[in-house]
Amino acid sequence: MIASDDGAIRANAPENSDTLPQRYTPADIEAKWQQRWDADPALYAADATTTARPKYYVLEMLPYPSGQLHMGHVRNYSIGDALARYMWMRGFNVLHPMGWDAFGLPAENAALKNNTPPREWTLSNIAAMRRQMRRMGFSYDWSTEVTTCLPEYYRWNQWFFLRMFERDLVYRKKSKVNWCSLCATVLANEQVVDGCCWRHEDTPVELRDLEQWFFRITKYADELVAGLDALPGWPEKVRTMQRNWIGRSEGAYVDFEVVGGSAKVTVFTTRIDTIFGATSLQLAPEHAVTKLFASEDAAVAQAAAAMVEQQKQARESGDMGAAMNDLEKHGVFTGRYATNPFSGEKIPIWIANYVLLDYGTGAIMSVPAHDERDYEFAKKYDIPIVQVIEPATQSDGPITLPYISEDGILSNSGPFTGLTCESAQKKLSAHAESNGFGKATIIFRLKDWGVSRQRYWGTPIPMVHCEKDGIVPVPDDQLPVLLPDQIEITQQGGSPLGRVPTFVNTTCPKCGGPARRETDTMDTFVDSSWYFYRYTDAQNSTAAFGPARAAYWFPIDQYIGGVEHAILHLIYSRFWTRVMRDLGLITNSEPATRLFTQGMVIKDGAKMSKSKGNVISPDDMIARYGADATRMYALFAAPPDRDLDWQEDGVAGISRFLSRVYRLATSPVAKQAASTTIAPDLNNLTPLEQKLLRKLHQTIAKISLDFDGRWHFNTCIAAIMEFVNEVSAADAEMNSGSVSAAVIKDIFTNLTLLLAPFAPFLAAELWEIFGGAGVVFRTPWPQSNPNLSREDTIEVPVQVNGKLVNVVAVPAASTEDTIREAALADAKVQSRIEGKSVAKVIIVPGKLVNLVVK
Ligand SMILES: [Zn+2]
Ligand SMILES: [Zn+2]
Repeated sequence: MIASDDGAIRANAPENSDTLPQRYTPADIEAKWQQRWDADPALYAADATTTARPKYYVLEMLPYPSGQLHMGHVRNYSIGDALARYMWMRGFNVLHPMGWDAFGLPAENAALKNNTPPREWTLSNIAAMRRQMRRMGFSYDWSTEVTTCLPEYYRWNQWFFLRMFERDLVYRKKSKVNWCSLCATVLANEQVVDGCCWRHEDTPVELRDLEQWFFRITKYADELVAGLDALPGWPEKVRTMQRNWIGRSEGAYVDFEVVGGSAKVTVFTTRIDTIFGATSLQLAPEHAVTKLFASEDAAVAQAAAAMVEQQKQARESGDMGAAMNDLEKHGVFTGRYATNPFSGEKIPIWIANYVLLDYGTGAIMSVPAHDERDYEFAKKYDIPIVQVIEPATQSDGPITLPYISEDGILSNSGPFTGLTCESAQKKLSAHAESNGFGKATIIFRLKDWGVSRQRYWGTPIPMVHCEKDGIVPVPDDQLPVLLPDQIEITQQGGSPLGRVPTFVNTTCPKCGGPARRETDTMDTFVDSSWYFYRYTDAQNSTAAFGPARAAYWFPIDQYIGGVEHAILHLIYSRFWTRVMRDLGLITNSEPATRLFTQGMVIKDGAKMSKSKGNVISPDDMIARYGADATRMYALFAAPPDRDLDWQEDGVAGISRFLSRVYRLATSPVAKQAASTTIAPDLNNLTPLEQKLLRKLHQTIAKISLDFDGRWHFNTCIAAIMEFVNEVSAADAEMNSGSVSAAVIKDIFTNLTLLLAPFAPFLAAELWEIFGGAGVVFRTPWPQSNPNLSREDTIEVPVQVNGKLVNVVAVPAASTEDTIREAALADAKVQSRIEGKSVAKVIIVPGKLVNLVVK
């Protein structure tokens, strides 16, 4: 008597290993296959030359090598791995690579804490995580592995930097920058989250003035917005976030002369059609004209200083937009006037706390009749309100101000009265331009990408400072500029590289005189902006990658990662792709055709974190339940785009399911069937065989459809479970010989193929048990046979006068006559129509019968 692994006692089974089902021991099965796979680097190797099979590039975002995979990684990579395996089985030539986003601050912090050099710490973390990934059975082509902190990779960051410098896409300027005191470095705007550092959620970002290197990403702003329309395979959420971040506004510049002085105020407006209704100008408190007035008027100076302080607080509060909206709108009249260049009218100039220097021109014209905020401001300060837009048709009825619509007609607007808003916007802009006081323009919220970091563990910027020649680029033949290995990491301010004389002191490439190297390093988002191109040609020592390789593999067919990268990485890499295109290295403008953003893995409703003590380690799960159960649970517990609340019971449940599959597949009757070489005779199936094959082929159809479309892997796995339930329910009949060996083998072979994307270790083992030819992951994905999957009977709802009365079962191939007869013969239906006459019978084939009775 032995206990099987679901706890049930099998009393009468003879104690003979050939006739007993085997016990599922994932530790043994997974170790065996991992060893075989590790010894076979060709197994998942991509072929960059074949034209025999279509290519498919599936990519998961590369991790930062912290030293430990977390469950978010496991989920992300399980999704990608299931897809990669499915596409291989569909006959595609798949590229499925992995690498390491290996520069960054944690390595320096670890160096401080443990006195381990950043390079050593990082490389040992990579080794640990690579081990975990192999243990999970992820199907990566390790020959394409990319490690961004190695000179073989970062030298190309430097090479790109130089090419961008030559094309004026890199420049240096002094600017206000975001500074995190804990990181002791500058952050990009994209790295400021709610006013705090993206790595230090409780550390408010300060503003400092520093000389910085910038990438001119704004040169591509228009294209980056327009390109979003051509990305239907990206989540709408991500596209909207990018659109808002880039913030494109069409409008016009208009110059207003200051009365009694030589100064002028240029405003940006998106509604030049309302300019005859402008009744004041408002300047940002830091505007040059404000400063001019302030120098002549102490009251203005004082008011402006107070507003600058308010704006600074709003900026530092985090969500600047929200903080500015919450701000009580406040303004001060400067006592000065400007001339409206269209009407010649004199209007007062104010300074206002809600006008920002770095958006548009830092000055706006206020049109209270046609703008919510201007209306509020005019009411508060008793500024005139002049309506200059009327509804296009009278039927719109009387209007209330402010009237925001752009579908109206101009009134009270001199020679432009009577024009539609749309045509007025063009005509007024053109008029301003031909008269030299304005022009149509497009502005963006997006700012250039500040890439200087005052850190050690990043790519050195390939520039030198010469007293004679200024900034001189390092020539290509002197690349890479190597990061020095031996360096003392301290918490002193400033760039650590600045304290390494052997690094800093160099000779000027231009004059040969003494010079200093640039000691800033590049933002690590540079590394991740193009790493996926390097995967296509990771061993290339003479170029970042060969253009033919990239042309073969790009664009990425499916990119998978967290939605937290919607702004940072996913905008930067779209920018970088365009830069490389303009350098002639690639022909695609977008890196990825499809993007999928998976949900988070949480525990008890909260994000897993060490401080909450709710972190689940993948290693623990693997030790208890195996890698197959862990990854299959990650796909089963929730639709992949939703958050997943990790429940260990659920992993145990998946493990029991896999154990059940294994037991069924290693039962004596299944083992016997494994040796048959006959295919099922589809013309001579018993009803039970038909039933089992029907469920099998319905399951195949469902999973195939899901992989190609909605990716509800949770319901795919549920469908496999249902199928296994039916097989299990037929256990006795199988044992008694009422199911042919050919059908049994067909069932288990196909079940193995269906499991392959989700539980690869078990699938490999079962494939071997059933004598499958070659590698299971290169076996064609099963096709659903519609003749087998079709139901014998279908259920048709019957309505009387549109109300549901009953559901009748009819043979699937029924004619309309048969369906009508079945409906009319139903007892419930008969009682409902008794004594009435049937005027009409409406049949929607396969769907519905409606009886119209009187
Ligand atoms: Zn920080
Ligand atoms: Zn020089």
